This record gives sequence, structure tokens and C-alpha cells, in this order.
Amino acid sequence: MSEDLRQAIGAITEPQLVRSLAELGFLGTVEDCDGLHVELVLPVVEWPNRAWLEDEIADVAPGATVRVRAMTDDERLELRNFLRGNMTADSGPGHHHDTATPKFLDKLAKTRVLGISSGKGGVGKSSVTVNLAIALAQAGHQVGILDADVYGFSLPKMLGADHDPIVLGDTVIPTLAHGVRCVSMGYFVPDEQPVIWRGPMLHKAIEQLVTEAWWDEPDFLLIDMPPGTGDVALTLSEILPRVEMYVVTTPQPAAQRVAQRSAYAARALKLSVRGVIENMSWFVGDDGQRYEIFGAGGGAKLASDLGIPLLGQIPLDPRLRSGGDLGDPVVVYEPESDVALAFTELAATIVRQGPARVYRQELKLV
Ligand code: ADP
Repeated sequence: MSEDLRQAIGAITEPQLVRSLAELGFLGTVEDCDGLHVELVLPVVEWPNRAWLEDEIADVAPGATVRVRAMTDDERLELRNFLRGNMTADSGPGHHHDTATPKFLDKLAKTRVLGISSGKGGVGKSSVTVNLAIALAQAGHQVGILDADVYGFSLPKMLGADHDPIVLGDTVIPTLAHGVRCVSMGYFVPDEQPVIWRGPMLHKAIEQLVTEAWWDEPDFLLIDMPPGTGDVALTLSEILPRVEMYVVTTPQPAAQRVAQRSAYAARALKLSVRGVIENMSWFVGDDGQRYEIFGAGGGAKLASDLGIPLLGQIPLDPRLRSGGDLGDPVVVYEPESDVALAFTELAATIVRQGPARVYRQELKLV
């Protein structure tokens, strides 16, 4: 009886790591003496899904007493090795590939990497990243966000992430909120301490978070890039050559010109620039009229200048701002609002558009 129960509890899937408790080594002893006692063994006792896991166990084993203990160093190392084994591409016997390459970077991996960029700050790039990511997750995709906007790491707060990533030796387990995994470089920068990000430092930090965070094999990994033309695009072109770039702009002509510069810089690095997202396109007043507060046509003009599609227009909506400030993303809390629906539609358009076509050198037509 307790063996069956052990199996049933061991089969529960841990939401953060999407593996079973048995595989992760999260299930300790299951004893049936003086009542049922189940031991839940977690990397840290304040593991984010602890209460959820305890409830699940109570469902599978009614009346059981659940005792939680933290993993020993050896157990943590074992978990780290298990996750690493899942993370890295299987190079197979006799191959000497760099085994540190995450699976999702493999040529055949399903993951689409979306670089969300803008020419300048304040156009809503981070807000777009968060709401687009959640809209993709709501549509059933596995999604991660890497916050690399070194001018202000606002993303985890906007997403509503309520805990820091957990670090197991050299492996970072992203936070999970609204079905989206997130790691921000801001987590690893001491508060109040000004950091001057020079190119090589930024490169190293992004590389580390791409390769050392447990992204699993997501359908989409969104990267919130610092505004401008700079170093990050260069880094991405080296680490993630398949990255697809999306440019966020406002309807203003001035914004459109700076956005164009960053798109040209990306193209110079042979990155594929897939589309324009116009934010703050209009505001709908109480009278039901659309007011084009920042003018009109900037997104369409940028798209036509670059010869790429305008993929979506996001209205101005105070609920988007307050949702961001409170960590209650508008696509979650006001899913029927025009602004949320604009993100749902944008997500569907990006899915429909499909991955960038990459012509590989090994593909030779004779
Ligand atoms: P960026 O990442 O480009 O610097 P943010 O996403 O931080 O921009 O947005 C800047 C400010 O504008 C934030 O306070 C945000 O809540 C607000 N904002 C962005 N897009 C909208 C929108 N469509 N409607 C209302 N407020 C918005």
C-alpha cells in the first residue's frame, strides 16, 4: 500500500522545474506507522511552491502529515547534476562537443529567441515584453524572459515575481510567475550600487544567464534588451545567432528615427529583424473616441522603411501602467480589456509568423 502511495506522490509534477518529485529527489521517506508521514525534501525550505506541493500531497494522500526538510549539500549537488543533464545537449558517445551548451540553443531545438529592443527608453519595451510573454504562456507555450535591460531592471516587479531565483551552485532556477520563467540581471547586482556595464562585462553576464539558468527547452525565450544600438545586440549575435529582433516604438516621428537606428545596427550584425510593435498608439476617452496623443503613423512608417511588418498596435491604458507598478499584469487581471486583447493578438501574430528562416552553410544546393 505505501509503495503505491509512494509512486502516486512521486508522480506529482513540480511546477517550477516541470519534472516529477521522484525524478527531482524531492520525495523523502513515506512511512505508515502511527499515521501516514511523508517527507518532502526541498532545495531550500522556503521553496516557492512549497505550500502548493503540500496541498497536492494532501490530495493524493489524505490525512498524511507532511514534514519538510532542506536538502543536504550532497542532495543539492545531485539535483544540480540532474538539471544540468537535462539542460545540456546530448552530445552522444564519442562526440566531444561542448557539453555546456544548453539544449535550447541547439540548431534543432524548438526554442524561438525573441530580442525585444527599442531605440530609446520609456517607449514601453519592458511592459510589452512582460505582457507579450504572458500572452504567449496563456496560449499554451512555455515561455522565459531574460531581463538584460541594464538601465533599470524593472521586469520581475512588473511580472509580479514574488521571490528571487534560487541558485544551486552554478545553476540558477528562474522565478516563475503567471506561467513565465524569469531571470533578471538585476538580481545579481547589489542594490544601491551603481554599476557601469562595459561591453565585455555585459557580454559575460548575459552569456552566463543564458547558459546557466534552467530555461528547460522553452518555446519562446524573450530578451528585454537595453535601449539603443549597443553592445547587447553584438552579444546576442554571438551567443544566440538565431535571435529574432522585434522593435518597439511609439507613433512619434522622433521615436521612430531612433528605433530605426537600432534596427539598422541589428541588421549590420546579420540579426533578423522580424517586425515592429507600436506602443501607446491611442487612448480611448470616456466618450469612446480614439485620441492619438503621440501622433500617428510612426510604427507603420518604421515598418515600411525597414521592409518588415507592423505586428501590432498597443493602446495607451492607465491599467497597463498601474498593473506594471503593482506587479499585476494587465493581460492577467483585465484579460478582456482592449489593451490585453492587443497583446493576445500580437502573440498570435508572432506564433503565426513562425521562426526566422535561417540558411545554413551546410545546406548546399547543387
Ligand atoms: P521601457 O522599458 O521602454 O523603458 P516601460 O515598459 O518601463 O518602458 O514603460 C515606461 C512607463 O510607461 C511605465 O510606467 C509603463 O507602465 C508605462 N507604459 C508603457 N506602455 C504603456 C501603455 N500602453 N499604456 C499606459 N502606460 C504605459
